[in-house]
Amino acid sequence: MYGYYGYGFDPTFILIIIGLVISLWASWFVKHNFNKYDQYDSRRGTTGAEAARYILDQARLQNIQINRISGNLTDNYNPGDKTLNLSESTYGSTSVAAIGVAAHECGHAIQDQKSYAPMRLRAALVPAVNLGSQASIPLIFIGMIFGMNHTLISIGIWLFALVVLFQVVTLPVEFNASGRAIRILSSGDLLESDEVPMVKKVLGAAALTYVAAAISTALQLLRLILIFGNNRD
Ligand SMILES: [Zn+2]
Repeated sequence: MYGYYGYGFDPTFILIIIGLVISLWASWFVKHNFNKYDQYDSRRGTTGAEAARYILDQARLQNIQINRISGNLTDNYNPGDKTLNLSESTYGSTSVAAIGVAAHECGHAIQDQKSYAPMRLRAALVPAVNLGSQASIPLIFIGMIFGMNHTLISIGIWLFALVVLFQVVTLPVEFNASGRAIRILSSGDLLESDEVPMVKKVLGAAALTYVAAAISTALQLLRLILIFGNNRD
């Protein structure tokens, strides 16, 4: 891939393939679970937006505005402008899956309210990670062009490691938001008790996509280390 191996087969490329397969499987799995439980309308008939409003108000977060945004599974909480943004598949839907996703985003809003430490760490890493994800591969290339300049290559690999760290820090943030959502929905205000396990399936599948992303990036890092770690003079 980097031309460095000439025309020979690069055995470390298998790591990229493994990461790709894991990511594709996880993205299929989350869509499969969402679509499955999107067919179950909650018996209370609450929409995703109504559920979110209720949860936020209960948490004394009346100031947080709920917006409807385009797309599917593009739902997010924006800590910058304190808005909860629900996609078309969530906002007006009364499905168990939609209420689960809306509650998960409320979980992020509550994390923000409580200054949840992993969320703060994650936010603090964003500028460095943006730099890292843009500069790491070009730096490695430049390092190779300039006669395998180990300093440049090492900086590139460290920047890439920062991206892996970011994805690892994302995991507790996502798992905690889903944990909060499930606890809130288990209280019985919004869902019947037999609907809660369906939410657990949807949010569990969504969490897996973050695990898959972290594994796949870690495998890419491992590959860089395998390729360039062996070539120190
Ligand atoms: Zn989330």
